[in-house]
Amino acid sequence: MSSFPVAICAPSGAGKTTVCRALLEASDDLLFSVSATTRPPRQGERDGVDYHFVSDEEFRDMAERGALLEWAEVHGRLYGTPRSNLEAAEREGKKLVLDIDVQGARQVVKARSDTVTVFLLPPSFAVLMERLRGRGSEKGERLRRRMETARGELDAAMTFQYVVVNDRLDEAVAAVRSILDGEGWRLERRREEIEARVGELRAGLEAGTR
Ligand code: ADP
Ligand code: 5GP
Repeated sequence: MSSFPVAICAPSGAGKTTVCRALLEASDDLLFSVSATTRPPRQGERDGVDYHFVSDEEFRDMAERGALLEWAEVHGRLYGTPRSNLEAAEREGKKLVLDIDVQGARQVVKARSDTVTVFLLPPSFAVLMERLRGRGSEKGERLRRRMETARGELDAAMTFQYVVVNDRLDEAVAAVRSILDGEGWRLERRREEIEARVGELRAGLEAGTR
């Protein structure tokens, strides 16, 4: 099984968390990259599962120690990917699924050129607002800020390798799953294995025709 990072981005409220969760539940070759953040947990979120909830000081310390593969400020809070997540995925031969913002995705691609980038779009503006409000976690000023960030994130859609519309959840999850399956077959990800296979076949053919 090939191991590579998968950066999934979307404007806030498009359903990135929901899609990632459903994708992870249905697959055993994926590892979710649990980020560190200085934002407080939302209802139902668990420390160490959804995020590592840390103080500003702890976050700065991780960044200074070089323990973060990338980090960014999003909606006024700090978010970062522990480098150890990537190492764990490699050890286990799994693909590391990163639910990160566009700035973070760019940094991951810089660090790892084999990263697969997927952008999720909501089916319409009306549905985006419905989902943002429906989640109920953001109101007033914070909701307005998320809408502003969403506008900036949208501009990045055209720079991603894959764009999936998250209309029906099961269809969006199946689409991302098929992208990852296809990516796993790329020659660049399997060069050594294919070379060995071709070498073995060639040796057999040469011996057989001698
Ligand atoms: P994000 O992580 O992109 O900010 P969430 O995953 O939190 O977004 O989703 C925002 C809201 O939209 C949540 O209430 C979620 O249940 C809902 N949602 C996400 N995807 C779908 C979908 N395909 N169909 C209907 N509702 C969805
Ligand atoms: P939320 O607060 O809604 O969970 O996440 C806010 C934004 O931060 C989302 O776009 C999410 O993808 C992004 N994010 C989460 N973890 C990371 C991370 O480790 N690095 C970066 N750059 N962004 C992250």
